[in-house]
Amino acid sequence: MKTAQDPALDREISRKLDARERLTDDDATYLYNGAALEDLQRWASQARARFHDETRATYLIMRIINYTNVCVAKCDYCSFYRLPKSSEGYVLPREQIFAKIDEILELGGDFVGFNGGHNPRLRLPWYEETFAAIRARYGDTIEFYAMTVAEMMYVSKLCRVSYAEACARLKAAGVRWITGGGAEILTNEFRQRHSPLKYTADDYMIAQRAILDAGLKSTATMVIGFDETVAERVEHLRRVRRLQDETDGGLFSFLSWTYKPYGNELGGQELGPEDYLRHLAVSRLYLDNVRHIRASVLTQNQNALRGLRFGADDFDIPLEDEVTQMAGATINRDIEAVLEQARAEGFAPVYRPIALAPRPAEAARAKARQPAPVRLPLA
Ligand code: SF4
Repeated sequence: MKTAQDPALDREISRKLDARERLTDDDATYLYNGAALEDLQRWASQARARFHDETRATYLIMRIINYTNVCVAKCDYCSFYRLPKSSEGYVLPREQIFAKIDEILELGGDFVGFNGGHNPRLRLPWYEETFAAIRARYGDTIEFYAMTVAEMMYVSKLCRVSYAEACARLKAAGVRWITGGGAEILTNEFRQRHSPLKYTADDYMIAQRAILDAGLKSTATMVIGFDETVAERVEHLRRVRRLQDETDGGLFSFLSWTYKPYGNELGGQELGPEDYLRHLAVSRLYLDNVRHIRASVLTQNQNALRGLRFGADDFDIPLEDEVTQMAGATINRDIEAVLEQARAEGFAPVYRPIALAPRPAEAARAKARQPAPVRLPLA
């Protein structure tokens, strides 16, 4: 619900930012509903500058590998899944997974994220063997998000092991990251409305805590633009900020993307570009303990790069993600064109390597580009 701009609240938020005081839930609600867009841009840029060079933005070249579309969760916002007996269901053979990794290496990327359905035929040993095989074949030249928190939760329950045991076994298989995907909106009410078979928000937070406690790395994500209320968005942000406090900064980054309403049961309208920028700014301002706020080129295209002026400091250049593509996302494989959009917004794009070992493709890319990219540590 939009409200009028309030000069007294504007002054109070400005004062808090100057004093580095934490914003409240009420502040966040006002930022979503009433604050002027130009104020959000200014404040978010001020908060971004606490962590990052104001003239640079980091990026990754990556792809999502959707290893299976078979799923029993039946989320009403999903355009991707097929039920177990569907003739359109698939599980990617290992050779096809390797081929997708080979291609991203050839294109100069060093990172893939695995994301699939809750497939009752894929038990924990399938994941352990797959990830161990990837680590054996590629060593440290590729890094991967092994699965999302939601997938880890499903497989743990399917195999009747604790989250801690599943994480320990995956870690032993060579996994380093389990990403915060599958979060959408983290309130118990949202989960009940749209994906009652998946998990509760409370359980999700327990699982993500177990991932960090196991010594694995993780990230936080959020999807906006369904039918969630502003209060639900703020609750999601509050859960992330609290976990980040409790784990002393265990979450590497926070990435938000927007719901695509095509080809699914829920339907609806796409969120406008300004709403996304507003949300990015609120995320940067409210999540004062998260260093990296990432923008979604996958769902926002050029608008994502505008987001660099609304608090975002990092973005992916994704070359594939079937889940969002089936719901209406478009992929731009012209890497240089995406980088040019970042430059047009006033930021020098700097590749952020995630793999530990440099590869010939990365060296070639560095040589070809002027100025040469700076290698940043994986902080
Ligand atoms: S969003 Fe994920 S868990 Fe939900 S139905 Fe789709 S594939 Fe399954």
